[in-house]
Amino acid sequence: MTTDYSFVKSQMGTDLLVCGGYTFGKEKQVEGKSFWKCTFYNSRKKKDDIAPIKCKGRAVMTDSTVTLTGHHFHSPDFTDELSRNANNEVVRLAKETRDAPRNIVMAVAGSVSVLHASGIRKTGNLKKLVQRQRKGKVAMPKTLEELILTNGDCVTSGGEDMLLYDSGPGRNRTVIFATISNLEFLALNTTWVVDGTFKVCPGIFSASGQLYTIQAAKHRTTFPAVYMLMTGGARA
Ligand SMILES: [Zn+2]
Repeated sequence: MTTDYSFVKSQMGTDLLVCGGYTFGKEKQVEGKSFWKCTFYNSRKKKDDIAPIKCKGRAVMTDSTVTLTGHHFHSPDFTDELSRNANNEVVRLAKETRDAPRNIVMAVAGSVSVLHASGIRKTGNLKKLVQRQRKGKVAMPKTLEELILTNGDCVTSGGEDMLLYDSGPGRNRTVIFATISNLEFLALNTTWVVDGTFKVCPGIFSASGQLYTIQAAKHRTTFPAVYMLMTGGARA
């Protein structure tokens, strides 16, 4: 019997019980007792093994104590537990903060010793975990007063910050997007083209909103480097 256990979320979002280096999925609940079976309950040793190996490790939880029963055919894995804890921390920070994914990943990876960090999922996967947690949970703003942009939200798919300027929430709004590497690219080219269009401007920027782009001309073509969104009332 032990009180040393924790819960983690499975990839499906259900609770897993972690105790003594083993992980259990919930089997059933009978009044005040819950019954858990090892996550290796239905695993195969090798791909071509036809009969699955069923781990007989079980856990019974009453109030806040856990009793481990049965024999596991595999050894306990504490690395996995640590890795899961790191994932849980990433999920928590993704929900509770507006930090950039890479900052969250660095904060979590930095808090785990180097020895154990090798057991943690690749940082790219952790970044995706952050994005998955946030996806669909941010309500689309309906007015420019509701539109709040932060550096953490405005990143390119490559992870580069792209919010250069924001005049702030309000009816007359100017927002400029450009990454540092875009600006460097622009600085290296002496011919610039400035273009303005109404067509692709998001509706939230009012019917008379405009999108301006500053493009660098090179090799007989132009490369957009800076994007400026403006409401009709704002002036460049
Ligand atoms: Zn087991």
